Amino acid sequence: MSTKVARLHAMESIANTEQPVSTFDYVNLPTGKVWAENVFCVKKMQERLPDKAYKALKRCIDTGCPLNKEVADAVAEAMKLWALEKGATHYAHVFYPLTGLTAEKHDSFFQPDGAGGMLAQFEGKMLIQGEPDGSSFPSGGIRQTFEARGYTIWDATSPAYIMESPNGATLCIPTAFVSWTGEALDKKTPLLRSMQALNKECQRVLKFFGTDGAYVRPTAGAEQEYFLVDKNFYHARPDLMAAGRTLFGANPPKGQELEDHYFGVIQPRVMAFMFEVERELFKLGIPVKTRHNEVAPAQFEVAPLHECANVATDHQQQIMVTLKKVAEKFGMVCLLHEKPFAGINGSGKHLNYSLASPVAGNLFDPGDTPEQNAQFLLFCAAMIQAVRRWAKLLRAVVASASNDHRLGANEAPPAVISIFLGDELTEIIEGIAKGAPITSRKSELHIGVDVIPPIPMHSGDRNRTSPMAFTGNRFEFRAVGSSQSIGGPLVALNTILAESLGEFAQELENANPQTPEQLGQVVEQLVKSVWESCSNVVFNGDGYSLEWHAEAARRGLPNLKTAADALPAIKSKETIALFKKFGVLSERETQSRYDVYAEQYIASINVESNLVVKMVRTIFFPAAIRYQSELALSLANLKAVGIEPDHKTIDKMTELIRKLQDSVSELEAQKQREHNCEDIESHCQYVRDAILPKIEEIRGYVDTLEGMIPDDLWALPTYQEMLFVR
Ligand code: ADP
Ligand code: MG
Repeated sequence: MSTKVARLHAMESIANTEQPVSTFDYVNLPTGKVWAENVFCVKKMQERLPDKAYKALKRCIDTGCPLNKEVADAVAEAMKLWALEKGATHYAHVFYPLTGLTAEKHDSFFQPDGAGGMLAQFEGKMLIQGEPDGSSFPSGGIRQTFEARGYTIWDATSPAYIMESPNGATLCIPTAFVSWTGEALDKKTPLLRSMQALNKECQRVLKFFGTDGAYVRPTAGAEQEYFLVDKNFYHARPDLMAAGRTLFGANPPKGQELEDHYFGVIQPRVMAFMFEVERELFKLGIPVKTRHNEVAPAQFEVAPLHECANVATDHQQQIMVTLKKVAEKFGMVCLLHEKPFAGINGSGKHLNYSLASPVAGNLFDPGDTPEQNAQFLLFCAAMIQAVRRWAKLLRAVVASASNDHRLGANEAPPAVISIFLGDELTEIIEGIAKGAPITSRKSELHIGVDVIPPIPMHSGDRNRTSPMAFTGNRFEFRAVGSSQSIGGPLVALNTILAESLGEFAQELENANPQTPEQLGQVVEQLVKSVWESCSNVVFNGDGYSLEWHAEAARRGLPNLKTAADALPAIKSKETIALFKKFGVLSERETQSRYDVYAEQYIASINVESNLVVKMVRTIFFPAAIRYQSELALSLANLKAVGIEPDHKTIDKMTELIRKLQDSVSELEAQKQREHNCEDIESHCQYVRDAILPKIEEIRGYVDTLEGMIPDDLWALPTYQEMLFVR
């Protein structure tokens, strides 16, 4: 048996990897031609459904109104026929549990017909409702196992699609996942509820601008960052496999200093991968648009065009699944972890967000007429107030053990939640608040009695260091982590905006303006009062700077550095009241989310500490001992021939070995003491304070070892290898 370490095996396999070959015929069947071929899209509905059923379904999709049984049966029949034509044998209710992942329960269409044959069956009730056991999904105490029943309920507003696999196809039906008592066990249910609440408050406001009556929807476009590593390396790294990030690894001689990767030429294997990812997503009607190399070596980005928030959320999940699946085909693994490599940029998911309606257009778009501008400013004011009031909640909904490594690491937005408006918009709103005409610009930039001219806005105005940035016609929430569902952040944004808009609506209703001038005055007053109470959340400078952290503290903005600090905001009485008021989550549902996320935080750090103990004991320690005895032997040999040897290396090795041993024993002892934690909140704090620092300390020793131990004894693929070998 060869004694070669795993790392060297991996290198050898990679050296023998062949260049990618074409996996599809893009000339004869161009990707444009496969667009949405696996989606039961509106066009197919129209073609295949009886007119009445189609109209009812379309109304349901456009306005979120419920469907009756007859229509559901008709839709199920049409869907089934279409799926069978596509070779599907099964249907699956797809749902989105609180793990943030995608879950599926598959059932066959077929059943015996009683005469020795088979019958494909799919009725409305099978489309509408499923009953996965689901007792192992985290529910934060909502569902005991004795009442394990959970239901999946069809979300007609998100299109069904065919998932192809090598030996068959499955009709996938996006669903909400609820307990038998109707409590939300998933990310979709509160998202749909929050969209409904937001629409209602928007309508109340829009009525005054003459554009009520059209359903207002949040739109979302999420830019997904990810890493690709060769699967040979991945399989030689237990930490990557089990924790999704490297727990060890010295900085490579060449890191990202040269920034020669960013927007660089994409290399062939990655390119082939990207084309296939895009083709698969195109078939699913997912409008991926942008692709490029990211800042870190081996890091990339894919971004779709924005869609209705609910559909965008489901599509985002499909993007993550597809990235992972296709990477494997090309001998790579796609890492979605927020910080797979220490010292190298992490991955985020910039969540672009706006509000849109067919009648009123994009509500965060300044627009051309005075009325549109007043409306725009009012919606911006709602966002400013919402972010100021709910900064802690916004921090909490992106909190996870993995995202903690990224937030505030001078590459991602800081943990302080502020809002960037850009100089122009800030000046305009400030001007309104001061009641003074804005002299530095066109003097008629003033709302109220006069007209409001078009607001000149430079959509190119960018600030990469802000967690929440206005980018011309939308807000970009940049604190979301690359592995997270965008569902949670969207629920928070929708609900906090609904609250502010509801308050504005109340003011408007009280004032009951009759003329555009009167309306302008009310808007002016509202914008002014928001600015007075909330402008301290506006920050247009460098969010990475130390001065900002000091300044933010002076302004009284929360700086919740870790998930252990941030998560409790979810179960605060304010948050519970907010979600309850808007019918988004009941008290129990909100509390359960805190429990689940806190448990996840603890569990993922536990996985890491288990790995550290195991890897040190079975990989690093033995390698260090071997090297130490090699050194000892060499010293003895030198002595034997009369040379006085230098003990420096062996002394250093011996010291490192001792430190490693001690610190791992300490880590184990700390882990034992976890059982003493009284509640989940103190447990989170405990792992943050007692476990994580030990993991870091041990890493320090191992990374030093990596720089000393002979290459042929070092089993783990190095950063250099993983990031630069293609
Ligand atoms: P950048 O990297 O400069 O931020 P990208 O083009 O990569 O820009 O991504 C911009 C994202 O913003 C895309 O997903 C795009 O669809 C999305 N977007 C644009 N307009 C809106 C909008 N009104 N609502 C939501 N998302 C939007
Ligand atoms: Mg962006």
